[in-house]
Amino acid sequence: MTSKNHIFHDQLLEWFNINKRSFPWREGSMDPFVSLVTELLLQRTKAEAIAAFYPQVLEHFATPAKILARERTDIVKDLSVLGLQERRTDSLLSLAREIAEKRNGTVPDDEDSLLELNGIGRYIARAVLCFAFNKPVSIVDGNVTRVFCRYFNLENKGDNRRNKHIWELGDEIISMDPARVKDINWAILDFAARVCVPRNPACETCYLREKCSFVRKD
Ligand code: SF4
Repeated sequence: MTSKNHIFHDQLLEWFNINKRSFPWREGSMDPFVSLVTELLLQRTKAEAIAAFYPQVLEHFATPAKILARERTDIVKDLSVLGLQERRTDSLLSLAREIAEKRNGTVPDDEDSLLELNGIGRYIARAVLCFAFNKPVSIVDGNVTRVFCRYFNLENKGDNRRNKHIWELGDEIISMDPARVKDINWAILDFAARVCVPRNPACETCYLREKCSFVRKD
């Protein structure tokens, strides 16, 4: 019998094949350092804004050397279109120094080492592992948690660190098709942004409606 986890995985990928969002960092292979910088910038900023800014990411922030060669005032000016420019400038400079001076210019490809980098939490570490290194790890934020909790009828313990069961379920689902680990993570993110939104989710027309616990409870 096909498990509910498999049905979720397969139906979500079918939905994604038709409805995926297009962003420049999803095209082709991703450089690990560019991935780190992009994920840092995506924190607290809409993906569409980062997409518009992406040519500048590639021009000025694609390597630790490029960042360290740039005047701080110029970095602040570049980032001012995104907001939080002072804090973001400090983060990028700190990250660039750490990778250049302590990691021989190379982004580590294991979670523990990524977590040692200043300002890098579990979400960003795993996003880089998946999107740049193609590793089968889930990335879980509040939006992903909402989808999992509704569909599988799971408890949301509020704090991401306490939602160990969500990360584990995510890892299980991501691992189902090694050829599509990036797609399934993007699919969950896109589905959470477009269908299973916080208020008034589009349950009536939802592609995953049939097995969703949230609908079946009503
Ligand atoms: S049926 Fe509704 S609650 Fe369930 S996954 Fe779809 S949008 Fe989310």
